[in-house]
Amino acid sequence: MARRTFIAGNWKMNTTLDEAVALAGGVVEAVKGVSDVEVAICVPYISLQAVSQVIKGTNVKLGAQDVHWEASGAYTGKISTSMLKSVGVTYVIIGHSEQRQYFGETDESVNKKTKATLATGLLPILCIGETLAEREGGKMDSVLETQLRGGYAGISKEDALKITIAYEPVWAIGTGKTATSQQANDAHVFIRKVLASIYDEQTAQAIVIQYGGSMKPDNAKELLAQPDVDGGLIGGAALKADSFKGIVIPN
Ligand code: PEP
Repeated sequence: MARRTFIAGNWKMNTTLDEAVALAGGVVEAVKGVSDVEVAICVPYISLQAVSQVIKGTNVKLGAQDVHWEASGAYTGKISTSMLKSVGVTYVIIGHSEQRQYFGETDESVNKKTKATLATGLLPILCIGETLAEREGGKMDSVLETQLRGGYAGISKEDALKITIAYEPVWAIGTGKTATSQQANDAHVFIRKVLASIYDEQTAQAIVIQYGGSMKPDNAKELLAQPDVDGGLIGGAALKADSFKGIVIPN
C-alpha cells in the first residue's frame, strides 16, 4: 500500500485568536485543490473551535498540540480527547520534544495519551527524536527504539496503523539546522525496522513517518523525495501561509 504524503503545521504557542483565524484562512486558500497530500494545522487550544469553522468543508484537517489521558475530572489546566473531538479535531501531536524537554513528558505519558487519543477515534502524531549529545554519543538508535517501544506499548497492530510518527531530531527543531535528506531517511529506515520487530514488516511499511526539524520550502523537495520520508511536521515555516504552501507544493 502506498503511503500518502502528510504535511502538518505545528503552530506551537503562537497566534492570538484573530491571528489564528487569519492564518487558517490563508492556509485554506494556499492549499486549495491539493488532493494528493494530507494537510493538517495543529493550532493552540483556544483557537481550535474558531479554526474548525474556517476549515470546515476544505481539505485542511484540524490538529491539537497535546492532550491529557484522563477522560475528565480534577486535572486543572488539562484538555481531554473528547473535548478535542467536540471541536472537530482529527489529529493530536503527542510527545513533542518540547513537551519532553520542558514539561516532563515521558514515554509512559506518551503511551497513555496515545491510547486515550485512539480510544476516542482521534489520530495521534507521535513524536520521537534524539538530542545532539545522544546522536554524537552513538545512542541515536537506542533512544529511538526506547521511545518507540514505550510509546507503542500495548497498542494493537490495527491501532498502530492509525498513528503517524514524526521523527524530529531535537537538534534540528527551530535551529535552522536540518538533517540531511540521507540522515532523515536513514533514521526513518531504522524506525521501520523497529516497527517491524514490534509488529511485522507489512505494518512497518504502511505507517506514515514525517520528518520534522527546520523543514522549509527550499529543503522540502529533497527531504520529501526520500523513499522513507512520508511528509513533514512543520514548526516555523507553518506560521506563514506562503511558506507552508511551499512545503505542501514544493517546486
Ligand atoms: C516542530 O516543532 O515540530 C518543528 C519541526 O519545528 P521547526 O520546523 O521550527 O524546526
